[in-house]
Amino acid sequence: MTPNAALLVVDMQNDFMPGGALAVPRGHEIVEPINRLAQRFANVVLTQDWHCPGHASFASSHPGRQVYETIDAFYGPQILWPDHCVMGSHGAALHPDLDIRHAGLILRKGYHKAVDSYSAFLEADRETRTGLDGWLSSRGITEVVVCGLATDFCVGWTACDGRHFGLTVKVIEEASRAIDLDGSMARAHRNMAVAGANFVTISQLIG
Ligand SMILES: [Zn+2]
Repeated sequence: MTPNAALLVVDMQNDFMPGGALAVPRGHEIVEPINRLAQRFANVVLTQDWHCPGHASFASSHPGRQVYETIDAFYGPQILWPDHCVMGSHGAALHPDLDIRHAGLILRKGYHKAVDSYSAFLEADRETRTGLDGWLSSRGITEVVVCGLATDFCVGWTACDGRHFGLTVKVIEEASRAIDLDGSMARAHRNMAVAGANFVTISQLIG
């Protein structure tokens, strides 16, 4: 790939794998394709969802509320999830078979207790930056290729925000998997398309 492109590998963590606390169906299937894909990129960023105990996105932090309910947080609607990716836990660790040793950055997000962060660029208040935009721009990176978990949440929001920061964005859906909660996959696909993200296959990308 061109030196001005980076691969963003989103949230390939144990809790998002089958058997994990917030399992994405067939999430494990994309570990090997992503490993192979990463070999074609000089610039790779891995992200980790990384919540403190009692995080605002956990249903358990809101007495009387159920998992997958939506509440009005101060920054807008927030889906309540099972406790997942608690910082330092086994569930928050990257999948043991993910093998991308040359990744230059591991970016953690969602560690502010009161605010969630699906996006690798901006927290859910839509103001607080993670710093990823600066990391990329300081390296002259103008294009991001996004894959991982889950297509309809963290991959989708990251892709849209990549466009927001002026980057060329390519999404590899075959190297991503979705939760698909109440039509969330169709919504995410539409949002990514409207934002100007391109959908590419692995073979289109690397031939
Ligand atoms: Zn989370």
